[in-house]
Amino acid sequence: MSDLSRPKGPKIIAVANQKGGVGKTTTTINLAAALVEEGRRVLVVDLDPQGNASTGLGIEVDDREFTTYELLLEDLDLNDVIQKTDYDGLCIVPATVDLSSADIELMSSEKRSFLLHDALRQTQMDAFKFDYILIDCPPSLNLLTVNAMIAAHSILVPLQSEFFALEGLSQLMMTIREVRQSGNKELRIEGVVLTMYDKRNNLSQQVESDARANLGDLVFKTMIPRNVRVSESPSFAMPVLSYDSQSKGAVAYRALAKEMIENNQA
Ligand code: ADP
Ligand code: MG
Repeated sequence: MSDLSRPKGPKIIAVANQKGGVGKTTTTINLAAALVEEGRRVLVVDLDPQGNASTGLGIEVDDREFTTYELLLEDLDLNDVIQKTDYDGLCIVPATVDLSSADIELMSSEKRSFLLHDALRQTQMDAFKFDYILIDCPPSLNLLTVNAMIAAHSILVPLQSEFFALEGLSQLMMTIREVRQSGNKELRIEGVVLTMYDKRNNLSQQVESDARANLGDLVFKTMIPRNVRVSESPSFAMPVLSYDSQSKGAVAYRALAKEMIENNQA
């Protein structure tokens, strides 16, 4: 059994929800940028073959020589796959479509669920002094996501403020319980963040009150509003915090970072 104790080193957070399009990647990118604004050093690990977090942070496909795939399946050292972004204090392990075969290739590995866990701990990360590692998970509960959950200290769940939002959450919670039993008993839930919230929309309000009634304090006070600047920013390969620093989306992600830091200090 791997040693999961962590006296020092970065806090590892998996951003997960098996539904697609709920704001995982958007939250990863912008929370990372907001943590960096707070003076934290952050590593984003792109664990989605779509590579949207890599694109959104300005790493073009041609510049992704070493990726999460090599980190997991070719035993490259973390130091060899980390790339700097244009943002001071923000690094990334990018992903390409290569990663789409990883799920199946992982099956044949004996340590298949622990590969990311071990990769993030194989190296002395002192040189980087990361405070946080955010893992952008694919929209599925496959072996890649399980690797993220085994590697992580906590899970951050974006919940889209739409009908059926809470559906699927029980499956996610069940997977978290299984991971606790099978290899990461300390795994916590960092929180649930409502995304694409529209306060004029009754449905958004309904999802919010359901989520708060069912999940209580797990739900962040901060909610991320639906904001067109947020959806535009990836096509400019920037976090919304840089693309439109005063937009509602940027303000909300800053508030989320502050709330999370406060929770972690409490
Ligand atoms: P996931 O990673 O869970 O699949 P994404 O982060 O890619 O989800 O978001 C899905 C889509 O919704 C993207 O087109 C993204 O730009 C858009 N989106 C996410 N959050 C917001 C928001 N707060 N306001 C407007 N559009 C958003
Ligand atoms: Mg995504």
